[in-house]
Amino acid sequence: MLSLLIEPALAQNKPTTKPAAKKPAASQNADNSVPLDPAVKVGKLPNGFTYYIRKNVEPKNRVTIYLANKAGSILENENQRGLAHLIEHMAFNGTKNFPKNELVNYLQKTGVRFGADLNAYTSFDETVYQLPIPSDDPEIVKNGLQIMRDWAQNVTLDPVEIDKERGVVLEEKRLGKGAQQRMQDKYLPMLFNNSRYSNRLPIGTEEVLKNATPQTIKDFYNDWYRPNLQALIVVGDIDVNQIEQQIKAKFSDLKNPANPKPRTKYNIELTGKNQFVAVTDKEFPVTVAQILIKHKEQPLLTKNDLRNSVIRSLYNQMMGARFSELSKQANPPFLQAGNSISGFLAGLDAATTVIVAKPGEFEKGLKTTFTEVERVKRFGFTATELERAKASFLTS
Ligand SMILES: [Zn+2]
Repeated sequence: MLSLLIEPALAQNKPTTKPAAKKPAASQNADNSVPLDPAVKVGKLPNGFTYYIRKNVEPKNRVTIYLANKAGSILENENQRGLAHLIEHMAFNGTKNFPKNELVNYLQKTGVRFGADLNAYTSFDETVYQLPIPSDDPEIVKNGLQIMRDWAQNVTLDPVEIDKERGVVLEEKRLGKGAQQRMQDKYLPMLFNNSRYSNRLPIGTEEVLKNATPQTIKDFYNDWYRPNLQALIVVGDIDVNQIEQQIKAKFSDLKNPANPKPRTKYNIELTGKNQFVAVTDKEFPVTVAQILIKHKEQPLLTKNDLRNSVIRSLYNQMMGARFSELSKQANPPFLQAGNSISGFLAGLDAATTVIVAKPGEFEKGLKTTFTEVERVKRFGFTATELERAKASFLTS
């Protein structure tokens, strides 16, 4: 799966499939710091490999294991554009302990729907693998951890398999080449302020996907799949201490490269300017406006940060409810609309307003949407709206 930005204002009510451990490393010493969930066992092996383990008895006898690599397409050299994603695919085509398609066969036997993009995604800054497996069979859990260990450093990257997979990824690129993609190509450079992000879309270039040598692919894997950029997250109906012992036994021998490349953190500079771009495409069926106000990412380190993040969730919830009301009117002013504040990319958050206009009614949709946003700005929310949002927040 390629993880790109998709209208966050509309997507905010969907459950996220990414692991929640995106920012777990809050410092634990200062009085004011956010206490980490005491049910989460956190540890770091001497090689830098980090783990987070949490017992969660619902659903019963299930566990999900995530391997998060703090490396994605943003780290690709010019001659590697698309290889972070190709490597994600290759992880399903043979590893040291599960050669060729044994991995897929094995997991299908355990009842896991399995394959590249079904159990993994590649984004600009990270590549994440996940395995949802039964937890009541120690053998399956052991093998699950072994698969993660293999992905962490022992993907085979067999040249014959690479050649087969090129076609799969090129096909994925071809399928993505619809109106949406063409339009994105035009507005992303502006949205990303012509930063490195503009030229590192995870899908990459045809040139690289067709011609990259197995060695170039291996170079990316060896440079960036390393324990000091990796974490394992285990959540499920498991014995935490037992899992911790298994992680220590299996992941301690992962090696960092002798001369590790610095993991640069790329930024998108804020220009402080209003910018806009209008893009048309004959095949795009509706008129959509997306208005993003980018700002520095809200940190999540102190109790006050946590409070702000709860406020933001409540805001998003109440806004979502208002727009849902509007769309249920007998003659709604738009096909879809929303406003929310969420993470953007590269250390930025964004307040995003999205309007999907009815044919010929763009102005009306835009006006109604902004009237609603302005109303909140001036008058806030009602006590009832807040109570409802709080109740829903507490049960979620
Ligand atoms: Zn893919």
